[in-house]
Amino acid sequence: MTTSPEWVRAVAILDGAQRVCLACHIRPDADALGSMVAVARALHGRGQSVVASFGEPFEVPAILSFLPGLELLSRPAAYPATPEVMMTFDASSVDRLGGLAGPAAAAAELIVVDHHASNTGFGSVSLVDPAAAATAVLAAELIGRLGLPLTHDIAVGLYAGLVTDTGSFRFSATTPEVHELAARLLRAGVVPAAVSRELYDRAPFGYLGMLAAALGRAELDRSAAGGLGLAWTTVTRADREPAKLSLDAAEAVIDEIRRTDEAEVAAVLKEDDLGVWQVSVRSKQVTDVGRACTELGGGGHVRAAGFSHTGSADEVIRALKRALADQ
Ligand code: MN
Repeated sequence: MTTSPEWVRAVAILDGAQRVCLACHIRPDADALGSMVAVARALHGRGQSVVASFGEPFEVPAILSFLPGLELLSRPAAYPATPEVMMTFDASSVDRLGGLAGPAAAAAELIVVDHHASNTGFGSVSLVDPAAAATAVLAAELIGRLGLPLTHDIAVGLYAGLVTDTGSFRFSATTPEVHELAARLLRAGVVPAAVSRELYDRAPFGYLGMLAAALGRAELDRSAAGGLGLAWTTVTRADREPAKLSLDAAEAVIDEIRRTDEAEVAAVLKEDDLGVWQVSVRSKQVTDVGRACTELGGGGHVRAAGFSHTGSADEVIRALKRALADQ
């Protein structure tokens, strides 16, 4: 849990910085990228020099291309090797920074903004709160403590993180404070319907073919996860090929699989462009999928986590079932 002196130190470091270098985890989601661009915008808005990026592959997911502040991003190749002040967003460990792990290790000050319980404490200043519903909650707190205004563009980035990490205010971390922050963001000009349309309610027509293929292969193993059940499927490169969809198009498939009444745990194996399985795992009420995924070299939260795995889909599922059986 972040103590007040950590916040005071973070503010003092940022107030005194000539330049602030920001980074978020690789393959950024809305919370990672939205929080980072919001803080980048806020610092830039008061005249500070900022560098913001994330490790290769340096591609902004199509559904996040609406985020204001993306023009502040620069390629990771141009990232300073030894930043004076560096800040990371939504990364639970230095590995999650990919190619920007080097600058993080070399930074004179490293301010870590994160809400993963598995955070390894890799920063010189830890703004880490596992009870926070999203990194965006902590980013909002930081912007407030810096005394910087919550402009419309900043609020959109924070709202995108808040709405996705809470599953549109459905998940257990949705506290009164979450709704109070959402209210502040709406007062700053966020239009919820416009953000939801970008995040959830659009896809190219070819997405339907990919979804049909993935759902058609779904399997249910009632004996997995200690008898609580596992529903899973795959999204292969071949499924994405006809419509030339990128990997992030497969991100929403887990939300269909996890509906399954007969399964406490849901998993989607997404084959990336290099043939590696990027696995998303979710649970409903009982199983700690964060621990299971950490055992498999990944990480995440109690109810939402992931890991990467090579080998056949069957091997990946066998490994996952073994890890789930341990929980
Ligand atoms: Mn997050």
